Amino acid sequence: MPPSEFELIARYFTGHDRGDGVLLGVGDDAALLAPLAPGEALAVTVDTLVAGVHFDPACDPAALGHKLLAVNLSDLAAMGAEPLWATLALTLPTADAAWLEAFSGGLAALAADHGVALVGGDTTRGPLTLTLQAAGRVPADRALRRAGARPGDGIYVTGTLGDAALALRDPPDLDRVERAALRQRLERPTPRVAAGRALRGLASAAIDLSDGLAADLGHVLDASGVGATVTLADLPLTPALARLAAAGDWQLPLAGGDDYELCFTVPAAREATLAAAALAVAATRIGTVEAASGLRLRAPDGTPYRLARAGYDHFGAAP
Ligand code: ADP
Ligand code: MG
Repeated sequence: MPPSEFELIARYFTGHDRGDGVLLGVGDDAALLAPLAPGEALAVTVDTLVAGVHFDPACDPAALGHKLLAVNLSDLAAMGAEPLWATLALTLPTADAAWLEAFSGGLAALAADHGVALVGGDTTRGPLTLTLQAAGRVPADRALRRAGARPGDGIYVTGTLGDAALALRDPPDLDRVERAALRQRLERPTPRVAAGRALRGLASAAIDLSDGLAADLGHVLDASGVGATVTLADLPLTPALARLAAAGDWQLPLAGGDDYELCFTVPAAREATLAAAALAVAATRIGTVEAASGLRLRAPDGTPYRLARAGYDHFGAAP
């Protein structure tokens, strides 16, 4: 017999609720969380994954649990925040024990890695929809914002770009090892939490890449009232993406989405400090902030590159 709502909560979502500042976790009408230290701000974010829109309902539930938390931790990382607490709103068509076991396990493993306490949630029946809210702390005056980039700042990204989007496209010419590595990037993104923290006081602006570099860097430029030139030859690419780029196809690294890397700007005077900083992931300089608004892309032959489609918009026109 499938578990009742309360058995389900007790079995799969209780016991991951201990951590910094948790006075009371799952089981009451609300969690009780201790206030932060003076001068700290609470960074709060929420993301929803809808079956059929954000993921295939038949996909690996453990990876889904991981990804649901990872996309939220990526937002906290982009603010320079240290993750503390999460709440989970689950809408399920059925209470499938094997699915719940794997989903909650994937979520709990990443939560444990980052010291995140799952302090509450809500469980309802309906079309499969997963919503997670995460909160973390950051010194209020050192939080990383989208506004703050200035002409002359270097533009950087962590990791590599376009891997998740290529996994989704799943071209037939990939070997087994390459395909597995790309799928890992799509299904189990690594939130760049340590990098975000290390960039406090170093980056002038930051964002995490969920909708594609061009669109997300565009948000930083708009918020900062500046423009930029990005040099395509400098984009960090895994070999499969580099092969596409060599053939003139830059769509995935520029507009692929689901990268969950950080894109940030650093004033020239601090770039040497950045080079020595411990980000726990490689950061690559891909361009420079400029006073003239707009994002300019320079192809390897020096000519301007025009992007076919900038990024994903849930309410935008179909491509
Ligand atoms: P209420 O009816 O008072 O809102 P619920 O019956 O919805 O409370 O939830 C009981 C307890 O279980 C609460 O502490 C709630 O935060 C927690 N909870 C419910 N669903 C989840 C979930 N999916 N994950 C984690 N905690 C949950
Ligand atoms: Mg209640």
